[in-house]
Amino acid sequence: MSIASLARRLALALLLVLAAAPAAAQESKRIALSFDDVPRHPGGFMTSDERTIALIAGLHEAGVEQAAFFVTTGNLDDDYGKGGEARIRAYVAAGHVIGNHSHSHGWLWNGDIDAYIADLDKAEAWLADKHGKRPWYRFPYLDEGRDPIRRDALRTALRQRGLLNGYVTVDNFDWAIDNLARQAMEQRKTIDLTNLGAFYVETIVDTAEFNDRIARETLGRSPAHVLLLHETDLNALFIVDLVAGLRAAGWTIITMDEAYRDPIAAVEPDTVYLGAGRVAALANVAGRDPASLVHERTDEAELARLFEGRVIVRNER
Ligand SMILES: [Zn+2]
Repeated sequence: MSIASLARRLALALLLVLAAAPAAAQESKRIALSFDDVPRHPGGFMTSDERTIALIAGLHEAGVEQAAFFVTTGNLDDDYGKGGEARIRAYVAAGHVIGNHSHSHGWLWNGDIDAYIADLDKAEAWLADKHGKRPWYRFPYLDEGRDPIRRDALRTALRQRGLLNGYVTVDNFDWAIDNLARQAMEQRKTIDLTNLGAFYVETIVDTAEFNDRIARETLGRSPAHVLLLHETDLNALFIVDLVAGLRAAGWTIITMDEAYRDPIAAVEPDTVYLGAGRVAALANVAGRDPASLVHERTDEAELARLFEGRVIVRNER
């Protein structure tokens, strides 16, 4: 081989390395898991204790090192909240962390601002001395206010308290699918559990892919994602399958601590379009129409239609 051809080959090799580096970086999709409304009302399949045991075991089996559980402290006063504190301790003992999801789970957009802040302070007071506590506030309904006055009042309030907005980047209606399953159980319909699991995983993975595409198109990169889930029976039943589905689609599961170290955690999007998660908000700031930022399965009627067709077993006799 001549010196010239060797030089050409080296140059080509270098080019390939340079070209491959950004592509490889683009291929890595990272996501952390979070569960809201803890302790949540029961679903159709198990008791609250069984649900917590199954969820902890599933997260362990799936190799999820650290998920976050966002506590709605008012739920502890409810009948179904009995034993909730012990279940929260169990999540933390298993390596997971907890954050603030308000005391009463109210809306911000139409409520009194001071009362809203007092309510999150009440939850913060309960959480203050708990192990595994993180300074994160997850807005109920992802409602950060629909006008700049409410939005900015809460941004200031969180800053004063040293709280980070516990945003999500992957909104989805996991809770609606859990509701459909519970209703079907109550109506004594026959559920095909295999199909339910497949439908559930497909829906969540697809909403993650959808938001990652939007992020790449508008941010030019894939941020560390935060998946919104709830403390539901379906997550207790299918978390292992869900994590397997995410990994099969190329996702790496990361800790919530790592997710909130992403640069997008420090951004306060200059929009009031905030209820579909941070990626959607940033895409809206970049000029995207909100209608293009909502996944078709973040819709109760659409989910009900699909659920009926794919999960319910017809008794044709
Ligand atoms: Zn909630």
